[in-house]
Amino acid sequence: MHTPEEAEAHRLDSVDPGHRHLFHVPPAEGGRYPEVAYLAGNSLGLQPRATRDELLADLDAWQRLGVEGHLEAERPWLPYHELLTAPAARLVGALPAETVVMNSLTVNLHLLMVSFYRPAGERTRIVIEDSAFPSDSYAVRSQARFHGLDPDATVVRLKPRPGEDTLRTRDVLDFLGAEGHTVALLLLGGVNYLTGELMDIPAITAAGRAAGAVVGWDLAHAVGNVPLALHDWDVDFAAWCSYKYLNSGPGALAGVFVHERHLGDPALPRFEGWWSTEAATRFEMTPVSRPPATVEAWQISNPPIFAMGPVRTSLELFDSVGMPALRERSLRLTGYLERLLDEVTADRPLTVVTPRDPARRGCQLSVRIGVGSANELTKRLRHEHGVIADAREPDVVRFAPVPLYSTYHDCWRVADALAATVEATS
Ligand SMILES: *Cc1c(COP(=O)(O)O)cnc(C)c1O
Repeated sequence: MHTPEEAEAHRLDSVDPGHRHLFHVPPAEGGRYPEVAYLAGNSLGLQPRATRDELLADLDAWQRLGVEGHLEAERPWLPYHELLTAPAARLVGALPAETVVMNSLTVNLHLLMVSFYRPAGERTRIVIEDSAFPSDSYAVRSQARFHGLDPDATVVRLKPRPGEDTLRTRDVLDFLGAEGHTVALLLLGGVNYLTGELMDIPAITAAGRAAGAVVGWDLAHAVGNVPLALHDWDVDFAAWCSYKYLNSGPGALAGVFVHERHLGDPALPRFEGWWSTEAATRFEMTPVSRPPATVEAWQISNPPIFAMGPVRTSLELFDSVGMPALRERSLRLTGYLERLLDEVTADRPLTVVTPRDPARRGCQLSVRIGVGSANELTKRLRHEHGVIADAREPDVVRFAPVPLYSTYHDCWRVADALAATVEATS
């Protein structure tokens, strides 16, 4: 029997259907519904139905052509990465010359810090958020050590005010006003992985640059989730992965942005390989590189073609749907989940910690649990209700209704499962 609430969810799905038909949704292990309610696209996006055939076509070219595939494949391998450049640039609001898909996220953060973390004099500090993703913490601490600096003294972790869960823009700006002269690099997450907070990227970038710091952004949880305008926002550099909202598969190739003003700057240190030299003369095999005045100068190795196919397929999908339409649906879907969560959390030891202002978040809502472990709760949601969420120990469970493929009924299932799993306090 459908309750009126469940019927309402189905009705909303019929008027605002999204693009679920373009994805493989994992089957549920048993129970009432054939598919899981997948709310973990912020951790690993689902597989687009188009990916397998596109990947097989690239594999076929290798089978038929061997080495000649570099030039003769339907999508020749030598310039293959260029197919990804324009759609990636559109997604992050960049010029094609500012964007390239390569490597993985943390590797790219390191390669970018080679160029953009250059401590000198009293300007040595790296500023991150206290709830930064661990990989970013480890990366910046190891960069400090690489420069002979003490990571404890070099890395500043910005904390929310006591009793608050998210950073206030005002506090970040005040910190930069007071201590900006000591900051070499500001490297924050555009959307925080834990709380789902969307930072005010343009305001913080402007303040950081005005204070004389370099401003980079980790967009792992922002890309494909919220609209971005990196070029116009004057961001110095950015990096993101493609396996979360970009649905390009586990460990997928990542993306990089370097602002136009830094391109072709011979004073910037960079690590180079044969893919750092301009493509036209690459095979002259000269002993000295001639890097192009584009972000491709940051490339090092020839890229893995079979890893690029899924990214290409995914970017084509984002291109065809468009980020503005996705954001619109995202606001509706997350607003709906928020309303349902408010009802469930009202009399249970659960608190939504994501900002309540839709302009300050993407699609993810994070819930802090007051009793028990986050891991235990997500296990029960999965095994008893077929709801796939994501735990961050000790006490946060994250739900991401992804505008491409999540449904209102998925959101309803989250609330229904939470109500059944977490005991009411009164
Ligand atoms: C997912 C994520 C990573 C993961 O790093 P990889 O190098 O892709 O393994 C790093 N930083 C942030 C902020 C993330 O959300």
